[in-house]
Amino acid sequence: MAKRDYYEVLGLDKNANGTEIKKAYRKLAMKYHPDKNNNDKAAEEKFKEASEAYEVLSDDNKKQKYDQFGHAGMEGAFGGGGFGWDNFSHASDFSDIFGSGGLGSIFEGLFGSGFGGGGRGRRRSNQGEDLQISLSLTLEEIAKGISKKIKINVQDTCEVCHGSGSQDGSVQTCSQCHGTGQVRQLTRSLFGQMQTIVECPSCHGEGKIIKNRCPKCRGEGRTKRAKTISITIPAGVSEGQYIRLRGQGNIGKRGGEHGDILVHIREKEHNIFERQDADLICEFPISFSQAAMGTEIKVPTLTGHIKMKIPAGTQSNKVFRLRSQGLPHVNSSYHGDLFIKVHVITPTRLNSEEKELFEKLAKFDSEKKLNPEKSFFSKLKKFFV
Ligand SMILES: [Zn+2]
Ligand SMILES: [Zn+2]
Repeated sequence: MAKRDYYEVLGLDKNANGTEIKKAYRKLAMKYHPDKNNNDKAAEEKFKEASEAYEVLSDDNKKQKYDQFGHAGMEGAFGGGGFGWDNFSHASDFSDIFGSGGLGSIFEGLFGSGFGGGGRGRRRSNQGEDLQISLSLTLEEIAKGISKKIKINVQDTCEVCHGSGSQDGSVQTCSQCHGTGQVRQLTRSLFGQMQTIVECPSCHGEGKIIKNRCPKCRGEGRTKRAKTISITIPAGVSEGQYIRLRGQGNIGKRGGEHGDILVHIREKEHNIFERQDADLICEFPISFSQAAMGTEIKVPTLTGHIKMKIPAGTQSNKVFRLRSQGLPHVNSSYHGDLFIKVHVITPTRLNSEEKELFEKLAKFDSEKKLNPEKSFFSKLKKFFV
């Protein structure tokens, strides 16, 4: 099936502004949200399609490329496999739709996590809490990808009671709910008597009652301990993305499952490069004579240096593009570009020899009538006469 036009997906025309784009996306996201569609596959696809369209049209850079080249201009923009939820950077803007945990809770189970993890489905009630940490990376680290070890305090099985929560190992089945953790309740409503199922008030949904609680963990079956975890960050990640480490978070109470650790990616500011998606921008000073006569300069990249030709007669603020010297895209062989913007530096303190040379140059300029001030004033004169 041919890929639909992004504007068509959002039901907009090409002149739609940012507010209209956001509004159209919100409407579709609410309509096709998996929770409202019984996890219907077709609705999920529509939801993802709209999210991809929004990701592109809400980003000036991507939108410009798309407007100019259509879907062809988007090739490689989301990595080899096309748009995935790890490419969606606006979950927090729509936290009422996506949940306060961003894409985390609902979407992991439906679509799989961004960085290659499989879906796990919904959380179980006895699962431990997810833990969140943030990791600040330099652009150099992002360019290559990196493995880090981090110390973190995590709830793990209590060594005294081995997770049972009981001092003597005696755990009784709750007599009110017979171990199910749920009880039926009759409620009166406008439509008559209704039966609803609620959490058992005696055992708080656990189905078990502990008589002699373990003194170490006070019956929780878990204690906090420092743990060293290894994190592997793929190359090309960006600020705001996160990596989910499954089963590394807190263990649930009394033999529950482990939650996850969410590693939020932060990007440290670089003193030379400015990042725009996978492209890098660097401002580079050159001298007046280099600009006039042309030269070869050595410009920095994230991995070292690279030689670049400056042609004779280069003007200040000229931008040169060095292909594929930018950052890689996550899970893709596609690299962004490096843009070098040169600044011609006007000399400030001249020694006597330099002064002499510039005086000579000035003489040439006036003979050639190349004095830019003169030509500017003559243009000005024509303008007013
Ligand atoms: Zn214990
Ligand atoms: Zn109970």
